[in-house]
Amino acid sequence: MGTDDTLAAPVLQAPSDWACVDFISDLHLQPSEPATVRAWRRYLAHTRAGAVFILGDLFEAWVGDDAARVPGFAADCAQALRDAAARRPVFFLHGNRDFLVGEDLARQCGLTLLADPTALDFGGRRWLLSHGDALCLADADYLRFRAQVRTPQWIQSFLQKPLAEREAVARQLRDASLARHAVTTAYADVDAPLARQWLQAAGAQALVHGHTHRPAEHDLGDGLRRIVLADWDPEATPPRGEVLRLWADGRQARLPLPVQDAASGRVPDPAQD
Ligand code: MN
Repeated sequence: MGTDDTLAAPVLQAPSDWACVDFISDLHLQPSEPATVRAWRRYLAHTRAGAVFILGDLFEAWVGDDAARVPGFAADCAQALRDAAARRPVFFLHGNRDFLVGEDLARQCGLTLLADPTALDFGGRRWLLSHGDALCLADADYLRFRAQVRTPQWIQSFLQKPLAEREAVARQLRDASLARHAVTTAYADVDAPLARQWLQAAGAQALVHGHTHRPAEHDLGDGLRRIVLADWDPEATPPRGEVLRLWADGRQARLPLPVQDAASGRVPDPAQD
């Protein structure tokens, strides 16, 4: 890291017919949490956004695109993505949990995979999109793990293992992560100087990311901002989950998850626009 080459982000130009775009991340979809899956499907079916950007950790675990080719949870999620992408562009940027989502799933579902980070030119501004994990410099153990598993060699050898073996490895990694979190109270956050460096290298004014599960907006100075997305858990108390919507005219809002009206069965768009 350190050269302009490694910091340069690809740029996506939003077409002029996108009146607004949505950003979601950190749903951590898994079979044991069907309420989150239902909320996600309801959201996808009813959003009026010109495009949906999924900024990582849509899935709690993803062990290879072949999992979506056999009946089950992954295939059901792939179908929901396919339905959504048939109505509007859906972009997918990898999280630390679902970095093995590959071109095969993208083709199956009509998704566009994005590099981390990717710059988005929309509404006369440049936004920098990331999952955020690579910016959490204090999480040194994780960054070492990340460097190891994001190589083409590691990915290739992992994907060659039988599906059941890959699922066992994913369970082990998740148990290890839960055990680590049980003894840790301080989680790493995004490193502000590095975030500024990324923004300046990309010529962007605002970073949009997830991963930390600490929804907020931070002033990074010099007109630079960091906008953090929320994770989803509609069954938590209070329920968690929201959609960040940006409009081409400069408005910005955090929308609550759509809920179904019990009497009419209708699902209004919370933005009402
Ligand atoms: Mn994450």
